[in-house]
Amino acid sequence: MAIKTSEEYFERLKRMKPNVYAHGKKIGRDDPILELPINTLKFTFDAVNDPELKDMVVTHSHLTGEKINRFTSLNLSIEDLYTQQEMKRKCCHRVGGCTQRCMAVDTMNAIGVVTKEIDEAKGTQYHDNFLEFLKYYQANDLVGSTAMSDVKGDRKSRPSQQEDPDLYVHVVKKTNKGIVVRGAKNHITMGPYVDEHLVLPTRSMTKEEGDWAVSFAIPADTDGVRIISRIVTPRRRIDLKAPYNIYGVADSVVVFDDVFVPWDRVFMCGEWEFAGRLALTFAGFHRHSYCGCKPAVTDIIMGATALVAEYSGVGNAPHIVDELTELMIIAELVYASGIAAAAKATKTSSGIYTPMFVYSNTGRYLAGTNIYHEYDILASIAGGLPSTLPTEEDWLNPKTGPDLEKYFRRKPGISAEKLHRIYRFISDFSCSAIGGWAQYAGVHGGGSPVMEKIGIRSEYDLESKKQIVKYLAGIKD
Ligand SMILES: Cc1cc2nc3c(=O)[nH]c(=O)nc-3n(C[C@H](O)[C@H](O)[C@H](O)COP(=O)(O)OP(=O)(O)OC[C@H]3O[C@@H](n4cnc5c(N)ncnc54)[C@H](O)[C@@H]3O)c2cc1C
Repeated sequence: MAIKTSEEYFERLKRMKPNVYAHGKKIGRDDPILELPINTLKFTFDAVNDPELKDMVVTHSHLTGEKINRFTSLNLSIEDLYTQQEMKRKCCHRVGGCTQRCMAVDTMNAIGVVTKEIDEAKGTQYHDNFLEFLKYYQANDLVGSTAMSDVKGDRKSRPSQQEDPDLYVHVVKKTNKGIVVRGAKNHITMGPYVDEHLVLPTRSMTKEEGDWAVSFAIPADTDGVRIISRIVTPRRRIDLKAPYNIYGVADSVVVFDDVFVPWDRVFMCGEWEFAGRLALTFAGFHRHSYCGCKPAVTDIIMGATALVAEYSGVGNAPHIVDELTELMIIAELVYASGIAAAAKATKTSSGIYTPMFVYSNTGRYLAGTNIYHEYDILASIAGGLPSTLPTEEDWLNPKTGPDLEKYFRRKPGISAEKLHRIYRFISDFSCSAIGGWAQYAGVHGGGSPVMEKIGIRSEYDLESKKQIVKYLAGIKD
């Protein structure tokens, strides 16, 4: 059975060798500090039995015909790309933000596309390696990280120009059994609770930079791998339990301290001409994913804004209706970019469909540049209470609770509990450690807005626009 349960996933994690460091100490993967982030991943396993989600989340492996979780699948049609996007929006509603697991599916698809292209150009065997790995990945319902972003050092210098060559992950030794890699990847989401690290280059490389053009998959507890993690969770609830407060996230620096990778797990080694292609193919898939998950975040901001306005008695105020309409436009334009990217997808030689790059980038750009504006709308309409709301303990204290019940009132008929719940949610969602994390993630995850602009320009046919105006203006060259 290729579909595994969340318990089986967690059991796997517990069996791994401890190589995770967090908040000053070495921890096991069953440390309570990781409970909430792991819950988010568990959700992606439980979703296969969820009546609203299962038809999207369960699919079939094209390799074995077995039922698999779509978070381990390839996009072999335009329909698959649509379903990925819709699944991500719906799943993000459930966990109140990022489900995290889409990164690996985007990486696997990108590796699938580019290994085939390298083999066609160079006569290598990387695509066979990939397909064998994919079979194993799907059969065990694995979770992978996307270990792409190098630590990068001096931003103006190329990998080969850095004072320390380890600032980009690179090959330090090749043997007939495999390669040895050194370096560190930064910002790696899910680092402490993945089965595998899926490593790929973060940028294009030059002829001199073959050692940095490297891609591979490696079990997360392999000797020489160290995961230094920062864990972010919503505030724990005491009495006022809510679904949002059981999910969290962890990002990591993943250090590769002379790590041995056997050849059958290598997907690129030295083919520098394809490093940029792999990085950008991943970016295309992942920015398409953002066209599903980011509208979900806007949906949550929109719902919270509308509810708090309604509970406060100002739900129909013209300026609030106007702001809500703006949120609707942002959500649906980003989503529409994803649909357009899927509709205009290209079938690659591997059989995998890649979403149209310009549209996945315009959607991601629009999302990234509006994120603070969206939180601004929520903050301005919620008022100051998300930042000054007394703690849950004060609500539970028999001395102060009755005061809070009496004085926290808005529109007649809205119970104190409903008000308390919406304000505590907005406070946890937007005015907290995880709120700040989500804002930065909204800007930089999948590539900063400037990267999307560069991506759009690189593929855009500006010349054709000049030709239109030459025609209209009667200019003849
Ligand atoms: C919450 C979160 C989760 C993430 N998860 C992952 C993950 O799981 N896996 C992964 O691989 N990555 C992940 N990322 C990384 C993400 O892709 C990067 O943050 C993003 O690509 C920007 O890189 P950076 O943070 O190193 O910023 P920088 O490279 O420092 O860039 C910041 C700014 O500096 C300027 N700049 C940088 N380089 C140049 C240059 N050469 N010339 C001119 N200007 C320049 C640009 O204005 C740019 O916007 C995550 C990021 C966040 C915030």
